[in-house]
Amino acid sequence: MSDTSPSEERTSKNFIEEIIEKDLQEGRHNTVLTRFPPEPNGYLHIGHAKSITLNFGLAQKYGGETNLRFDDTNPVTETVEFVENIKHDVKWLGFEWARELYASDYFEQLYECAIQLIRDSLAYVDDSTSEEIAATKGTPTRPGTDSPYRSRTPEENEDLFRRMREGEFPEGTRTLRARIDMSSSNMLMRDPVLYRIKHAPHHRTGDKWCIYPTYDMAHGQSDAIEKITHSICTLEFMPHRELYDWLIEKLDLFPSRQYEFARLNMSYTIMSKRRLLRLVEENHVDGWDDPRMPTISGLRRRGYTPEAIRDFCGRIGVAKRDNIIDMSLLEFCAREHLNKISLRRMVVFDPVKLVITNWPEGQFEELESENNPEDASTGTRKIPFGRELYIERQDFMEDAPKKFFRLGPGRSVRLKSAFIITCDDFFKDDNGRLTEIHCRYHPDSKSGSDTSGIKAKGTLHWVSIPHAHKIELREYDRLFKVENPADQAKQEEKDFTDYINLESLRVIDDAWAEPAVAGDPSDQYFQFMRKGYYFPDKLSTLEKQVFNRTVTLRDNWARKNK
Ligand code: ATP
Ligand code: MG
Repeated sequence: MSDTSPSEERTSKNFIEEIIEKDLQEGRHNTVLTRFPPEPNGYLHIGHAKSITLNFGLAQKYGGETNLRFDDTNPVTETVEFVENIKHDVKWLGFEWARELYASDYFEQLYECAIQLIRDSLAYVDDSTSEEIAATKGTPTRPGTDSPYRSRTPEENEDLFRRMREGEFPEGTRTLRARIDMSSSNMLMRDPVLYRIKHAPHHRTGDKWCIYPTYDMAHGQSDAIEKITHSICTLEFMPHRELYDWLIEKLDLFPSRQYEFARLNMSYTIMSKRRLLRLVEENHVDGWDDPRMPTISGLRRRGYTPEAIRDFCGRIGVAKRDNIIDMSLLEFCAREHLNKISLRRMVVFDPVKLVITNWPEGQFEELESENNPEDASTGTRKIPFGRELYIERQDFMEDAPKKFFRLGPGRSVRLKSAFIITCDDFFKDDNGRLTEIHCRYHPDSKSGSDTSGIKAKGTLHWVSIPHAHKIELREYDRLFKVENPADQAKQEEKDFTDYINLESLRVIDDAWAEPAVAGDPSDQYFQFMRKGYYFPDKLSTLEKQVFNRTVTLRDNWARKNK
């Protein structure tokens, strides 16, 4: 972690900010234009959130703009569904793009760029198969060998390339390659492929094209067409920079420049659309927005807020070297924000009946309690109190140790927002399982006007049985059993799905909520007191409310696994 302070408070500059400030000072650019360039072949994940907050954040900081550009040059894996979801996620994260653009809109311009390279003898059509091209590439220590087609004339190349476009040749039979240097120490400069034939319809251009530019041909030129000043990408693109610069120079385009930062990796999950797609397609999870997924949609469904995610992205900073960020930092950011905004509610997860023996049957009192002590503007709610209540089974112990500040024979506790009660008796069934607890309440101990003088160390949550309604809770654990499933799979020659934690979902279906919960909106963030932060699942209905646990109140996981 290079920076642990919240982004808003950060005073030191990251290395990209230093570059930008220098460019502005020296007049290399007079504005900042960045882009976020997702390939619409999957849903965005938390790693993309890092890239989004960085690109949009830099533009905001320097009064510039950010384009949303779909890098849609591979028709086989890309769909409109992915495009729509990506837009939704970026907006939800709180960012507005200046322009919505598609690399596919530049296909004609990119084609003209290719023609220009051909005419300048800087590109040629190669009839070699991809295997043949790979076999003649050489190795980092041994130069490659020239393709037999390398010396074709510009006229012949232009004619062949036009015919490639017209669909005359089957897939895989020809490519357009840059003519650079087959002995370059950078393997990517050894006559890289710029165009390939694909007889596949594209989600936007339909059947218009059957040749598609490669990443290298499309990306830098799209940047230059849009006049992107700072093109920020992840470290694995470092070797591509030389080619990026070469193409822009040879084509004499706007001098966009590429800068690399370390991609975000997180423990106990995976961060690659290709692998996430497999989790979805092989039904290891309940779709892209399964609350265990590291996708933006999964985090949203789970109850993470955009503020928490942005805070997280700010705290991890911008690193130049790859590292793995602990999931607990994201959870910490969620707690920080949810504590401020969530409504407090009482829900009993594993109920046992408690009878207030000195409270008249059929009588109820409406108690008042704050919705959120962190935010007075949220007001109060009414909680009905009566003779028969549910409390947590684990809040009672027959032979309790001294430090157990909950209920046991002869012990007194406070019921949250209500009264102090003292336990007189309890009952068990034939199996020794607790069935009922009998207590007395102390009328002068009401919260807010307690004159009883009775000391009660613990405070328990509770619900009135006749008013409570049953809800379902879903608790989640890490999706993988090991810290780095992708790497470990490589080392142990296994598949990353072998490390899926099969116990990552626990359903609690006998939980009882106070009545306010039923009337709360479906996008309300909650703290179920003493339990954790919860958010209504997208499948929750009024008849059957279902809540996802976003995070626990404290970092239990780190302690348990020490
Ligand atoms: P994946 O391997 O998950 O499909 P990708 O890099 O192929 O990721 P793109 O859609 O091409 O996904 O990425 C859009 C932008 O987001 C790129 O600029 C990419 O560098 C950035 N990005 C992708 N993954 C991460 C990550 N884990 N951390 C930071 N930035 C990322
Ligand atoms: Mg990609």
